[in-house]
Amino acid sequence: MAEAGKIRLYTLDGGQVHATGTDATELSDDGAYAGRTFDMPVPCFLVRHPDGDLMWDSGMSPTRTDLGEWATPGPSIASQLSDIGLKPDEIRFVALSHGHWDHSGNGGLFSAATWIVNPLERAAMFDDESRQSQAMDDYGALETADALLIDDDHDVFGDGAVVIAQAPGHTPGHLVLLLRLAEAGPILLSGDLWHLAESRRHRRVPVYNTDRQQTLASMDRIEALVSREGARVIIQHELADYHAMPKAPSYLD
Ligand SMILES: [Zn+2]
Repeated sequence: MAEAGKIRLYTLDGGQVHATGTDATELSDDGAYAGRTFDMPVPCFLVRHPDGDLMWDSGMSPTRTDLGEWATPGPSIASQLSDIGLKPDEIRFVALSHGHWDHSGNGGLFSAATWIVNPLERAAMFDDESRQSQAMDDYGALETADALLIDDDHDVFGDGAVVIAQAPGHTPGHLVLLLRLAEAGPILLSGDLWHLAESRRHRRVPVYNTDRQQTLASMDRIEALVSREGARVIIQHELADYHAMPKAPSYLD
């Protein structure tokens, strides 16, 4: 276990999505979100550990031109890191919950880091279809990063404080992050395993998930982990969870 107070969790502003119409409806395949509107934050996170820094997700790209009015990028990730006293190329590890554009949008900033990634996710991010998409412009530099391919749970620093867990189904190699903070206690950053608090309550599966059964199995597995740990779950796109987090340069420890 890491020394008390030595691990810090910073929440960065990676933009916002205003989901209406089809974009809202597709967040659940049972029609529950038809006609609803959601303001969804797109945070990303920096974990500072005595043995190095881990970037978890990378927000929305500030340079995409095809997203339209529903997506608003946040302030530059490099400037938010600079407020913490860090440059992107000083960060030792990068891990994305998954490759979607609102989680990988500044991924290319971290090509000097070791990229911790499920091999199926990495393959999907660089398949022929992805290579045609504008999203790849923003993370494409990761293709040459040192990759640490993981197909099981992974203890990043070997002390149990920062653990990446497999939770496939939204995408083929979707991941979540468990942190064991000294003061704040255990925290789970759930990527897009759930999009909203009510999605978690009702086990709702988005229309565009790659595998429904696998998603439900991941929900079961991660819920068991959360109860075992007594972890606080941060649903990354849930506004209430985002609001409850101190924003960089403030942090949880
Ligand atoms: Zn997302």
